[in-house]
Amino acid sequence: MADMRLVVTGAGGRMGQTLIRLIAETPGMTLAGAVERAGAAAVGADAGRLAGLDANGVVVTDDPLALLTTADGIVDFTAPAASVEFAALAAQMRIVHVIGTTGMSAEDEARVKAAARHAVIVKSGNMSLGVNLLAAVVKRIARTLDEDFDIEILEMHHNRKVDAPSGTALLLGRAAAAGRGIDLDARSERVRDGHTGARGRGDIGFATLRGGTVVGDHTVIFAGDGERIEISHRAESRALFAKGALRAALWGRGRKPGLYGMADVLGLSD
Ligand code: NAP
Repeated sequence: MADMRLVVTGAGGRMGQTLIRLIAETPGMTLAGAVERAGAAAVGADAGRLAGLDANGVVVTDDPLALLTTADGIVDFTAPAASVEFAALAAQMRIVHVIGTTGMSAEDEARVKAAARHAVIVKSGNMSLGVNLLAAVVKRIARTLDEDFDIEILEMHHNRKVDAPSGTALLLGRAAAAGRGIDLDARSERVRDGHTGARGRGDIGFATLRGGTVVGDHTVIFAGDGERIEISHRAESRALFAKGALRAALWGRGRKPGLYGMADVLGLSD
């Protein structure tokens, strides 16, 4: 089969540059294009150079439409408003769209879901194997323990991150809620400040730390009467997420349109 032709959006960003480097060394795929926001400094630059490689002749553009007519997929770690637009374009072109962007509103999610009627969309708040395995374990533990165990999710990220709690913390929260058979939106405590009263029995709590260059640390705590289970994942490199995203793109090729998650890609769905 011919190489999968991938367009990287947010090419000048942290994840965009990581993806450009990884595509160059991954068999079975080619960088077909690189997209940035209109007015961004990276527009017009060589994508290889931008990512710290030799020049590769792919010029960063702010016009994705022309590129997408010959592409097989989009790998997208940008911002919610941008990802929603890219999903609509992926639907128009009937191609694969891998979305790593976090911080989407319910309305954004609905628009992505609508686009998945025509595009193969793989979306996950964390594309790493380790976190998706952790989510499967969290679901299992939450199913086993009753509400005598309080579930708290602690995360830390670098000081440039703009959304909180992280997409991964929410992914882990959803896994815990699914294990318990509760609705996360109705049963989560996202922020605590001042005289909050005691925590709600059975609720899932979140705590957020920001600082330095931390790629992504997550700990899920099950705190019971006199004992505590804590399980953690620490991401040491962005390449982890990029690897997962590229695996998702290859997995999505030729699949029927729909909205999938990394659990589908990794065979962890139950
Ligand atoms: P970043 O360094 O800020 O990169 C985002 C890039 O997207 C920036 O270059 C930004 O350009 C660009 N962009 C914004 N709007 C655009 C548009 N309309 N068209 C094209 N490009 C556009 O952020 P990052 O650390 O790479 O993270 C990006 C997203 O991925 C965040 O939501 C983050 O939480 C998420 N993430 C997810 C995972 C996962 O595994 N799912 C892992 C890591 C990060 P400007 O700076 O010029 O606006």
